[in-house]
Amino acid sequence: MNLTAENHRIPLRDGSQIPLLGLGTYGDPRTTPKGTALECVKQAIDVGYRHFDGALVYFNEHEVGQAIREKIADGTVRREDIFYCGKLWNTFHPTELPGNELYPKDLNGKYIYHHTDLCATWEALEACVDAGLVKSLGVSNFNRRQLQQLLNKPGLKHKPVSNQVECHPYFTQPKLLDYCRHHDIVIVGYCPLGSSRDASWVNVKCPPMLEDELLMSIGKKYNKSSAQVALRFNVQRGVVVIPKSFNPQRIKHNFQIFDFSLTKEEMKAIEGLNKNIRFVELLMWSDHPEYPFHDEY
Ligand code: NDP
Repeated sequence: MNLTAENHRIPLRDGSQIPLLGLGTYGDPRTTPKGTALECVKQAIDVGYRHFDGALVYFNEHEVGQAIREKIADGTVRREDIFYCGKLWNTFHPTELPGNELYPKDLNGKYIYHHTDLCATWEALEACVDAGLVKSLGVSNFNRRQLQQLLNKPGLKHKPVSNQVECHPYFTQPKLLDYCRHHDIVIVGYCPLGSSRDASWVNVKCPPMLEDELLMSIGKKYNKSSAQVALRFNVQRGVVVIPKSFNPQRIKHNFQIFDFSLTKEEMKAIEGLNKNIRFVELLMWSDHPEYPFHDEY
């Protein structure tokens, strides 16, 4: 497949297409000045990004939306060319009204869990597709068992088209990737640059991926950075990447991955970097019955 800056979309099983490179938009709301996401998404659209990854819990979805609206209004982009991914937050699984708290805790400071029925939630989301509110339905952080549960659901109307999970050279997800390919589910890789290394929610025991010698030496050959090599690696094997940057130079830099390609040997060597260690473990929720990361994959 000839991937270019102008067209690097791949098909989804429902007939839509997803750009292999998108912009992640999670920046710590405590340290990110208001308006940053707005300006960065506008700049990213100018650079050529057409895919944006957002969520209610990133607390800036309104800015991402405003940026897209402004760029449509000034004629830079058409609505139909934008792929936007939003995410249902966990307190919104029941279809009746949720509370106001996004991270509800009891008096002892313990998280209050909802008894999640993933199939029931999925049916409510299918209704959103049927009502024309959503174009494509995917999942995030699902393990094989949870995917199987959905795929085997009696009366399943819309199969998941994608699974957004951690994926990068240090966590290559070989088994989940195989399973998803087999079921025509696209993997969207988060933390494709090895995460923000924000110790308040990221496992920083794993060494910084962008300082990896192999990634840097392969980059040197192509006059590229370790970041560009890491992104190209996933894109070249059909894994969507959503690097986050709120820095104008790096937003541009991360988009410059369509003017070189890695050899088969280089792809293999990068696969060999897999450490099977997650940057995003979410251990604070490891006692939830649907915590996905106890299973091997
Ligand atoms: P990334 O791997 O995208 O890394 C982002 C960090 O790398 C930021 O600190 C950024 O800083 C820095 N950076 C960006 N470009 C470069 C570069 N070229 N060289 C060096 N450093 C760079 O991690 P994220 O955790 O942000 O993951 C990406 C996106 O995935 C998120 O923004 C979010 O949209 C999604 N996500 C989804 C999750 C889920 O559970 N579904 C979980 C985690 C993330 P700066 O901004 O200063 O450039």
